[in-house]
Amino acid sequence: MSELPIGVMMSAGWTLDQLRQVRDLGFNNVQIHAASEDVLEDPHGNAALIRDIQSVGIQITTVFAGFSGESYADIPTVKDTVGYLNPSMREERIRITERISDFARALGVDKVAAHIGFVPEDPDHPDHHAMVECVRRLADYCGRNGQDFCLETGQETASALRHFLETLNRNNVGVNFDPANMILYGSGEPIEALGIVADYVVSVHAKDGKWPPGKGQLGTEYPLGSGDVGMDRFIAKLKQIRYRGPITMEREIPDWDQKVRDLVQGRNLLESLI
Ligand code: MG
Repeated sequence: MSELPIGVMMSAGWTLDQLRQVRDLGFNNVQIHAASEDVLEDPHGNAALIRDIQSVGIQITTVFAGFSGESYADIPTVKDTVGYLNPSMREERIRITERISDFARALGVDKVAAHIGFVPEDPDHPDHHAMVECVRRLADYCGRNGQDFCLETGQETASALRHFLETLNRNNVGVNFDPANMILYGSGEPIEALGIVADYVVSVHAKDGKWPPGKGQLGTEYPLGSGDVGMDRFIAKLKQIRYRGPITMEREIPDWDQKVRDLVQGRNLLESLI
């Protein structure tokens, strides 16, 4: 791949027709949300989906884990439902993530990523220790599949994330840096954050958004260039830290046709900045 190739995040619920459409728009790489849990559990459905994806002829750079029951309605709901923080769901979700890692390996993909959930910043908090152990297990499983396990940014400050990564002490754990999430969760100024976790960044999202209106609330996502990230500063910072991977545009709206228009416009903006 050329330097800083522009790709697309195929969010949960994506279809093969949409994947072909993205290819036909001229994109040669995507990240994909993993297959649904029932497909992952069904060996025939799983194998058929892998064949169908491979037939499209587009590079899959990362498979994203996600779980039924997750909700991003507001920050307390995210804490309760997203990722591996809730102990009542942890073991089952680790098991599903292992199936996702196997699914990614069958596709020839060397990165598995997830929103792991809020990690308590206090290292003495019992949930902090549980999350360290959980991510180590996932990293070690992915490692046996020849993969990096990547943490999506946004739900903690960059310095807390860096401390967590250092505590993990695993060389196959990386960061999927999403500048908009830093804003949407009110976790810190994104360009400065990128500098703090730069050593760990293995993939990035190009996404934009505006700061939350109040505490406990989430900010709002906007098309690239219309939010508070500053795409020019983001691209300049990626060059400064010598990032060489894909820039994967993420647009989290349900209307596919509008999303396609925003992706095409976003690509024009990114190409002008790269
Ligand atoms: Mg993202």
